[in-house]
Amino acid sequence: VAESPADKELKGYVFKNYRKQFGRCLWPGQSNCPAPVIRAHSIQRRGTLEGLAENGHVVMPDVTLKGDDPPEVRFAEVGLKVASTFTGLCSYHDNKLFEPIDDERLDFGNRGQTFLLAYRSVLKEAHASMRAANKVQGVYDKAVRLGLSDPEEMTPEMLLATYRIMAAYDRYIFKFRYDEAYLNGDFETVEHAVFDLDAPVPSLAASTMFSMRRVGRDEAFVALNIFPHDGRHVLVLSYLAEHERFVEPLVSQIKTTFGAGRLKAASRLVVERCENFVLRPGLYRSFTEAQRTAIRELFLRTLNGPAPGGRDDRIDLFGRVS
Ligand SMILES: [Zn+2]
Repeated sequence: VAESPADKELKGYVFKNYRKQFGRCLWPGQSNCPAPVIRAHSIQRRGTLEGLAENGHVVMPDVTLKGDDPPEVRFAEVGLKVASTFTGLCSYHDNKLFEPIDDERLDFGNRGQTFLLAYRSVLKEAHASMRAANKVQGVYDKAVRLGLSDPEEMTPEMLLATYRIMAAYDRYIFKFRYDEAYLNGDFETVEHAVFDLDAPVPSLAASTMFSMRRVGRDEAFVALNIFPHDGRHVLVLSYLAEHERFVEPLVSQIKTTFGAGRLKAASRLVVERCENFVLRPGLYRSFTEAQRTAIRELFLRTLNGPAPGGRDDRIDLFGRVS
């Protein structure tokens, strides 16, 4: 879909303003919280991350973008202080926002709690995409200053910067919906589909947001959370009630899987759609070389969106595939 110059100008304007806010606390109740940001966890530290860690570390994908070369990913041990964090909230507001799910038992019938679970993913992704856009924009600006990229020409650098800015813009606008719902206590705006995963505990935790499709000027984003809970794992998909019909195919697809088949479906969803996931180190070490290679390859192939492709039994994040 081609965008009008006015659309682009608006996006540029919003982006510039968001950039000013970047590195500040994203607390929705106050536009200018002056407190310094901390590394806020997008996956609960106490309970979830601590349960998955061995010697204070979990395993996460680590992506390296290398200029003209294809990106690389390796699965690396990361300390708990850093794993899954984003610098988008101050300590006070991180606490205040997520106290109801960090300090109280999670009850999937409690709409306030399930809302917060999704909100955390939305904030993290809005921040992460902004960070990525900021980075490529910085590289692009530098290329223009150095005379390496002509600002009047549609260069690959400019396209990449534009693409990242648009992605950040869409997530930023979407975050507003959650901010508004939070401030109004209107938690019913967000619907959830909760699934049991019959996997050994603890194996995996994931938190992300991805788009099912474009809807007019918006994207139908879904928040995805997976984590150990009550001796099992749960998978939670959260979406705006008005987007239900766009998410329904994914919900049905998972609903019709059982046991090991559901673990494969969940694994595939995570590898394709999520960069923010952690594994228990001993579990990752148990994976076969063929399994690790298949996971890495699918991960890289789907960095910018899902790829067609049939079932691959080697894509399993919950146990060794022999
Ligand atoms: Zn704050």
